[in-house]
Amino acid sequence: MVFPPEREAAYVQRMFGWQRVRLRRLVLLAPLLLLIFVAVEALLMPAPLSEWLRDPVVWAGFVILLAIALWMRGIESADLFAWVGVGLQTLFLVACALTTRPGHGGLALLLPMFIATPLVTAPFFARTRTVVIAIVSAYAAGALALWHSSAGSTVWLAYGIQALAGGITAMAMHGTVDYSRRAYFLAEEELAQRARLDALTSVLNRRHFIEMGEAALARLHPGDLLTACFIDLDHFKRVNDEGGHRLGDQLLSAVAQCLLDLEGPGRLIGRVGGEEFAMLLSGMRAADAEQITKDLCARIAGLKVEDFSCTASVGIAEWHHGESLSDLLHRADLALLHAKRTGRNRIVRWQEHLAA
Ligand code: GH3
Ligand code: MG
Ligand code: MG
Repeated sequence: MVFPPEREAAYVQRMFGWQRVRLRRLVLLAPLLLLIFVAVEALLMPAPLSEWLRDPVVWAGFVILLAIALWMRGIESADLFAWVGVGLQTLFLVACALTTRPGHGGLALLLPMFIATPLVTAPFFARTRTVVIAIVSAYAAGALALWHSSAGSTVWLAYGIQALAGGITAMAMHGTVDYSRRAYFLAEEELAQRARLDALTSVLNRRHFIEMGEAALARLHPGDLLTACFIDLDHFKRVNDEGGHRLGDQLLSAVAQCLLDLEGPGRLIGRVGGEEFAMLLSGMRAADAEQITKDLCARIAGLKVEDFSCTASVGIAEWHHGESLSDLLHRADLALLHAKRTGRNRIVRWQEHLAA
């Protein structure tokens, strides 16, 4: 399942969001595992423990791995986290390799770890190319261990075969987990989309329009401009009564398309009732909004579905500093009410006397 670049980036970041807490704990295992590995080596190998503890590689490795793991806790970018993760894994394996003593049979302990580490970490990566590099660098570190331990050709051959099998298995594990995660991401995106948009018209549904509108208002500072427009179709019931609801739906969708054509940055458009729409236009005065809705009403009046058409009435109100979305929309609604009462198919701007 391959996503286009923008969606891929969103997926990678989302996946990081799901796993962030667990990953931050997982990377702390690297310095801990190095100490455990050395302790097991010391236990099983003939060299005394003091010799291992005097090895600067052990302590330098531990401190570096711990520092990187702690630093990773603060990384917010999924891609950076993944690349540093590859580095951490490789450093961990190199440190383990450098602690083994030639001739002490440490390879018997070391090699299974080289084979197993990419198998454990592969499913955690979001991008296939990062997994490939993680696997290749892990097995290259394994080759370093063989060289460090002066391994014979039989060991090299056995390692090569195991690394090949391990690499293929790690890729397969990554692919399986990756596929289900991507399918889940798509399903989640679709559900979120459905929860945001109105099913018939594809403009924002009422709940999402209100949420987004409140968030937009919360970002405003004194002196910022924002204008609300309430749009209601005139005598729309007649369209349904005379042409049927299917035709009514078609006309409603066509009207919504006119509204969608106005979409852009700083503009929110929602269906707030049956044949009622609302717009929030950031950075815009009522006079400019009036011009936009004038063009909109002309387009709506020009729509025709099987000889049926409709007009729209609009109420407009400019935001006052400190005003809530509910109060702003109420003023636009009062202006709309006035447009209805004074003949429909018109645009009315809020004025103080409408409050009475
Ligand atoms: P007014 O000019 O006063 O607004 O008259 P109106 O007939 O448009 O207003 P009214 O509130 O009496 O009726 C609204 C109509 O809108 C009634 C309802 O059947 C229709 N309507 C609401 N939602 C939908 C919808 O999703 N599809 C269809 N086909 N009609 C809808
Ligand atoms: Mg109406
Ligand atoms: Mg209505």
